[in-house]
Amino acid sequence: MHVNLNPFPALHGIRAGRAFALLAGLFVLTFGLMVVLLGLDQQRVLDATSRLQDATVPEIIRYQRLARNLEQLRLEGERVFTAATPQARQQAMFVVMLVASHPSVLEDAESAALARETERFLSDLMHRGAGDVSVFATYYGEWQRLAARLSVRVDDVAIQGINLANADLNDVSAIMRLAGYKLAGALLLVGLFLLIFLFLLRRHLIHPLQRIDRELSHLSVDQPAPTFEPSAMREIHAVEEAIGELHASLMQNEQARFALEELANKDALTGLTNRRHFQLLGHAEVLRAQRYQRPVTVGMADLDNFKHLNDTYGHAAGDAVLRAVSQLMRDSFRQSDLIARYGGEEFVFLFPESTLAEAYIQAERLRQRCAGNDVTLPDGRVVRVTMSIGLADASAASLEVSLNRADDALYEAKRNGRNRVVLAPSLAPVQEQEQGTLALTIE
Ligand code: GH3
Ligand code: MG
Ligand code: MG
Repeated sequence: MHVNLNPFPALHGIRAGRAFALLAGLFVLTFGLMVVLLGLDQQRVLDATSRLQDATVPEIIRYQRLARNLEQLRLEGERVFTAATPQARQQAMFVVMLVASHPSVLEDAESAALARETERFLSDLMHRGAGDVSVFATYYGEWQRLAARLSVRVDDVAIQGINLANADLNDVSAIMRLAGYKLAGALLLVGLFLLIFLFLLRRHLIHPLQRIDRELSHLSVDQPAPTFEPSAMREIHAVEEAIGELHASLMQNEQARFALEELANKDALTGLTNRRHFQLLGHAEVLRAQRYQRPVTVGMADLDNFKHLNDTYGHAAGDAVLRAVSQLMRDSFRQSDLIARYGGEEFVFLFPESTLAEAYIQAERLRQRCAGNDVTLPDGRVVRVTMSIGLADASAASLEVSLNRADDALYEAKRNGRNRVVLAPSLAPVQEQEQGTLALTIE
């Protein structure tokens, strides 16, 4: 039998494998993109550092050398004024000329112009001061202004070098900061992906599997069919459907088993337990009573002159009477008492926890009710039937022996005129007296 538990079949089209492959693909793609972007940033950092090494550092060195040379120029110029001897002055002038024509000074236009101006000023001064030393004192003020300009230039050049280094370092740190942000973003994205992945895993795989596990462990014919929320995963949905089908087939099996059991254990005409099943149950009950030394009584009943009723009213009427008498037995006895159709119009009883005297009261009540009640036949006519009953104590013998003894008592009842209850003589001497009294009461 096909059980369709899914009200939204279109929702269950996603295969778990495909869905997770899609997610994994998306994850790999995003992660790959992040890696490429980070790789590009790393390349930019590498470019900037190698630019710093190859271009900026030599440039800084050049600026430092220029600053040192300009400072040297200023110092030697100062020495031209402060030299103690004409030779020392000449020497200082010589160094001034050397420094002013140094390539590092010449390649910077502004510094080269200032160096040329300094050289020219000092060399004019040397000419003019060749014969008169006081000239140096006269021009010292002018020199100081020139020396101040040289100092300013030294500072400018030094600052230019620092600025150059700063600019490159700023570049590198900006790129690295950006790369840091990107890395944090990538990690966040990976975390987010993992969270989404775990969420989907829990919602669409783990939870449904737990639910399936729960339902499977409770799957029973005593429980209603399991119902599931519509699952988005095709495989999960297929398992859920299979569980529904399993439950339905369990129910069918149970019904079939029950029907078979009924068929095997029940008498078709009266619905009472049949002879075979009675023997099974009765045997167990007698054993139980004997093990715990509890009272138990068996009985046999036979409808009186039933052949005559059959011959007079027909077989169908006989069947109707058999059904009515069976119902009367069910109504008269306790739920725990066993009643069975033994064959034809013969019935057997087993009264657990009942002494012969107690069973007698019940049997006698049944006999009286049977004799005092009309049975309406299918054609509307009314008949009355009586029954004879034999009872035997079963607490000290096997079921078979006790039934034979009940049958003997039944025979006795027939022989004594029918429509009566007769007790089989007790096996145990202690019960004999009690039984004798009862038998007297009956007769
Ligand atoms: P007694 O009082 O001595 O028992 O007399 P009786 O007529 O009942 O005698 P007996 O037990 O020999 O007769 C049994 C009759 O019950 C025979 C048969 O016609 C009838 N019978 C047996 N089984 C069925 C059944 O399933 N349906 C019907 N309608 N009659 C049955
Ligand atoms: Mg009979
Ligand atoms: Mg009979």
